[in-house]
Amino acid sequence: MRHLSFFILLLLSCTPPRITPLPRKGLSLAVLGVAQDGGYPHAGCQRNCCRLAWSGRQPERYPACLALVDHDSRKAWIFEATPAYTAQWERLMEMTGWTDKNVPDGIFLTHAHIGHYTGLMYLGREALGAKAVPVYALPRMKNYLETNGPWSQLAGLKNIEIRRLLPDSAAAPAPGIRVIPFTVPHRDEYSETAGYHVEAGGKRILFIPDIDKWEKWERDIVAEIQRADLAFLDATFYKNGELQRDMREIPHPFVEESMRLFENLPAAEKAKVHFIHFNHTNPLLWNPDEVKAVETRGFRVARQGEVIQLSAQ
Ligand SMILES: [Zn+2]
Ligand SMILES: [Zn+2]
Ligand SMILES: [Zn+2]
Repeated sequence: MRHLSFFILLLLSCTPPRITPLPRKGLSLAVLGVAQDGGYPHAGCQRNCCRLAWSGRQPERYPACLALVDHDSRKAWIFEATPAYTAQWERLMEMTGWTDKNVPDGIFLTHAHIGHYTGLMYLGREALGAKAVPVYALPRMKNYLETNGPWSQLAGLKNIEIRRLLPDSAAAPAPGIRVIPFTVPHRDEYSETAGYHVEAGGKRILFIPDIDKWEKWERDIVAEIQRADLAFLDATFYKNGELQRDMREIPHPFVEESMRLFENLPAAEKAKVHFIHFNHTNPLLWNPDEVKAVETRGFRVARQGEVIQLSAQ
């Protein structure tokens, strides 16, 4: 019997936990996804990057999504409604241990590219049939949802309640929490593109999953990192030439460029940077040596399932 329990203990200690439980007190941030819009593995990709995931040697990664959780009031807000919304919400509930909640207390959207809002469809009549889930969006994004099916039906049936955000004006989804959207340059075919400053638990989190290039933004990203405590930043591509197409058509700051730009920051500032929103071709998704190299230079690579406590216990 003693041998058996020892064996079970040994087994348990060898099995990595499937989820990281969130702290049972205060505010925390959970990373629910780290990939670019198309996710990882990517539709139709048979190259090495995705073969690693198709064969189970790398875990699947969902499109970029953050959750802000207040354990004391049992509330949770998510940033982005991705095509993997269903799984991401379930993972979050496993992390919180809550069993009585089926929708977020609010969803903050950045823009109308598929990885960032199409998860809203799971709140509609064909799926959950949610009741008035607050969805926060800048004016063009709000108008896009209200005037194009199937999103307009979600609003019409009151599955979602769209709340208009204005750039640089704070929304207060709960006392002590401020969410401040701002606009960034990006391919704005259907909507403008937002980034967010989130103030919660005495911390300031910067979230910019998509931006064309840092130098196209009227703000100085280095100064913005210094103003924040954590910065989740667009790292779609590692370097130029990663795709066999003209990468100027889909501009993003290459991780190489960002690291060069942030190189002279002190170590404590660099450690705030969490790269996120990885295209399937980006080795930070599937090559541990590249992840190590970025971390050795003092930066962080966002990990799906990672939890960061914001307020003191
Ligand atoms: Zn994106
Ligand atoms: Zn691939
Ligand atoms: Zn985009």
